[in-house]
Amino acid sequence: MATATATATATSVDVDAAVRWTVAHATAGSPWWREHFERAGVDPASVTGAADLPRLPYSTKEDLRSSYPLGWAAVPESALVRIHASSGTTGKRTVCAYTARDVDDWADQFSRCFATAGVTPVDRVQVMVGYGLWTAGVGFQGGAERLGAMVVPTGPGNVDLQLELMQDIQSTVLCATSSFALMIAEAVEARSLRDSLALRVGIFGSERWGPKMRERIESLLGIETFDIYGLTELYGPGVGIECAAHDGIHYWSDYYVVEIVDPATGALLPAGEEGEVVITTLRKEGMPLIRYRTRDLSRIYTEPCPCGSPYPRIAHLTGRTDDMVKVRGVAVFPAQVDTILHRIEGVGPEYQLHIRRDLEHGDVLLVRVEADERPGLRAELVHQLREGLSVRPEVEFVPHGKLPRTERKTRRVFDHRE
Ligand SMILES: [Zn+2]
Repeated sequence: MATATATATATSVDVDAAVRWTVAHATAGSPWWREHFERAGVDPASVTGAADLPRLPYSTKEDLRSSYPLGWAAVPESALVRIHASSGTTGKRTVCAYTARDVDDWADQFSRCFATAGVTPVDRVQVMVGYGLWTAGVGFQGGAERLGAMVVPTGPGNVDLQLELMQDIQSTVLCATSSFALMIAEAVEARSLRDSLALRVGIFGSERWGPKMRERIESLLGIETFDIYGLTELYGPGVGIECAAHDGIHYWSDYYVVEIVDPATGALLPAGEEGEVVITTLRKEGMPLIRYRTRDLSRIYTEPCPCGSPYPRIAHLTGRTDDMVKVRGVAVFPAQVDTILHRIEGVGPEYQLHIRRDLEHGDVLLVRVEADERPGLRAELVHQLREGLSVRPEVEFVPHGKLPRTERKTRRVFDHRE
């Protein structure tokens, strides 16, 4: 039942030896890790392989914050060649540090992502995500260059510049957040530019995006899109991606082990069940992760992919443990709303959830969506949402294109209860 063992078959890497190395490396190099194991009463020297992972303590984002900025690092600072930091949207920034080999390993994983999405050295890859402290821009660039493609590093924002270069350079691949890709797609449509473009692939990540948004971007731009996985603590984006079967995300099991645990109790879940993704790195030098709780919700596929890849798959993320809002005691995830909106004709891909509390009704959930209002639509939407969420919502319609599109992550949950 230990999901960790599922990774051992994927590649020629000796996962047990790599787990032993990671634990020994972390404890030898970092007082924080030594204390972490000591507090849990675990002798790191007793770890023989992946089967021992379930008896090791979890590590969390709070731990990473408490050892800010570099207490988690397991190498001397002179061996670190770069840092990145998370955007800090849900708390204090967390810093992640890389050795030269970590940077190299990341580019290797990322070029594998591009290859999995069918990108080749003749492609021109427009990187429309943030550079700087954020991991995205430099990650996409490093992977595309490793593959041998041409990078067009426009960064985020500036729709006019993006469109100009897409036309002049004839970019074939777009890398963006799904929110920004939607903004670009709608601009291409509004200016009737599609015939002057050479786009064929879109690689989108950093936020969960629903099937409705995917269909709209694909149909407006005439491209095939791929969902890419990553988190700052684990190199950044590029540690997993969809293949052409578009069913789940292949993850690089020669670089890290995935376990799925119950987010409430921390208990390891049987293979195939949905829970929180927990990661242990196998090669990371600068800041190794051991049983790191990502807060991402997914499950491991138990069956091989029809594409024949030796790498295992996790399902598209259904959300994050910290996306969840409780409305009248019921857990509501934005992903559920995505799925429901997808089934309903005439409703757009963007939405917002507003939760407030009033004296008469208690918690009130308002779902704001883009739609062309037609007879029966409101009743249908309320019915579907009530069935799917187990909470009766209020629904507000706004015209298509009126909800905000952003270059980064779009905020969808607004909790007005305080
Ligand atoms: Zn596949």
